Amino acid sequence: MQSYILALDQGTTSSRAILFNHAGARVASAQHEFRQHYPRPGWVEHDPMEILRCQERAAADVIEKSGVQAQMVAAIGITNQRETTVIWDKRTGKPIYNAIVWQCRRTAGICEALIKDGLEAYVSEKTGLLIDAYFSASKVKWILDEVPGARQRAMNGELLFGTIDTWLVWNLTGGNEAAAHVIDYTNASRTMLFDIDKLAWDETLLKAFCIPPAMLPQPVPSSAVYGRVAPGVAGLEKLAGVPVAGAVGDQQAALFGQACFRPGDAKNTYGTGCFLVMNTGARSIRSRHRLLSTIAWGLAPGRAEYALEGSIFNAGSVIQWLRDDLGIIQSAPEINILAETVPDAGGVYLVPAFTGLGAPYWDMYARGAMLGITRGTTRAHLARAVLECIAYQVCDLVLAMQQDSGKRLQDLKVDGGASVSNVLMQFQADILGCRIHRPQNVETTAAGAAYLAGLAVGFWRDKEEISRNWKNERVFSCAMDEPTRNEAYRMWRRAVGRAQNWITP
Ligand code: ADP
Repeated sequence: MQSYILALDQGTTSSRAILFNHAGARVASAQHEFRQHYPRPGWVEHDPMEILRCQERAAADVIEKSGVQAQMVAAIGITNQRETTVIWDKRTGKPIYNAIVWQCRRTAGICEALIKDGLEAYVSEKTGLLIDAYFSASKVKWILDEVPGARQRAMNGELLFGTIDTWLVWNLTGGNEAAAHVIDYTNASRTMLFDIDKLAWDETLLKAFCIPPAMLPQPVPSSAVYGRVAPGVAGLEKLAGVPVAGAVGDQQAALFGQACFRPGDAKNTYGTGCFLVMNTGARSIRSRHRLLSTIAWGLAPGRAEYALEGSIFNAGSVIQWLRDDLGIIQSAPEINILAETVPDAGGVYLVPAFTGLGAPYWDMYARGAMLGITRGTTRAHLARAVLECIAYQVCDLVLAMQQDSGKRLQDLKVDGGASVSNVLMQFQADILGCRIHRPQNVETTAAGAAYLAGLAVGFWRDKEEISRNWKNERVFSCAMDEPTRNEAYRMWRRAVGRAQNWITP
């Protein structure tokens, strides 16, 4: 009886491998960091070969460390940093350029030109996205434009494009003519080239970005056997023959790992930034607040479920700012001890618009502001204002999502580094007027990838069985009365108003 699923979590700074058992519990994990390359200001690259080697090493390490026999692994599931773009030579398997990372801003000019050409409405209608350098399309175009001979070679069918899931699956399944060249629906939905309703590449967008169709991977469900680990993959000899049975973008993986299976179910990840994702069911919704409409997962060919997604640029990073730049706390956990010494922020509001404001304001000229300070303001009030500003920003997104989806949020599942803060979680429940559910297993991203792969090979029967694996660690219920909540939120919006449009372009 095979007892484990191996999840490969290929993130922005490290590659991890985690073994899960049938109860959805983590049995063992291994992790390797890799180098970030910043060739110019605003440019971010990774070496795809280094990513691959780190990932293979993490997988080999976790098998070694756990003592689990490789034959006991029923399947491998992948979750990955999204949008990051790789182009490689089909014959040699060598990338023709470094991977251009989602954070990289080098293609902002390409995107501005397309906005000027009036392509934005079309992009939103077909892909659910906004035109931005964040997504893969302009990164592919850049490599084809800048690497000598690349576009011609792509047209000749010599080059392959992929997001990181594509790159890993192709290499794990042999890295040759016979290897699987696929992209799962969720990753495809972040390329800005994919029609999320038809589940097919969009010809008009391929033309707009001058991308030859010959280099595109085949779109596939997030849960399906794409191939098997080929013999001779460096370090993974023991895993040869194991089915590679799922791939999914990291935020979508977390939504699945949190068992947010019904329309209206939502999760928020409190990391450096925040990612709020709400399941919208079989229907993709176009946001009136410039939130993204994206594929949540596809469990069968030609079928997908959808989600609305909103992100916050600065969340946990504000805590780091308090620690590293203001020196008010020595460690991140200390913020909670300090904040608990006061009942509220004493009327202080912090708007952390360090790099402008994202959804639903979209103001790149906004800058940070602190308001309501009096002679009685202490560092404890400031600590509290930092935690509260994270919750207020999530509230902004939730309100926008409720309007777009027509669904009132009653429950929010949480994960990520800052979700361990009880002060923050309680204030989040108070200001949203809903219940916050913090799971025992906060490895939701890796768990989501494991679940999707496990479903494909029958390791788990269905979503119901997976739902039963999801266990609450703690529920935070709203303890704030409505007038207090409304007044607090009204003051937050006033504070945001003061921060908006601060610098002159
Ligand atoms: P990422 O994946 O974006 O790197 P993580 O999910 O690891 O982020 O979360 C890291 C963030 O969590 C940091 O910004 C840090 O400020 C915050 N954090 C870590 N521990 C605590 C804590 N005990 N209380 C509040 N915030 C915390």
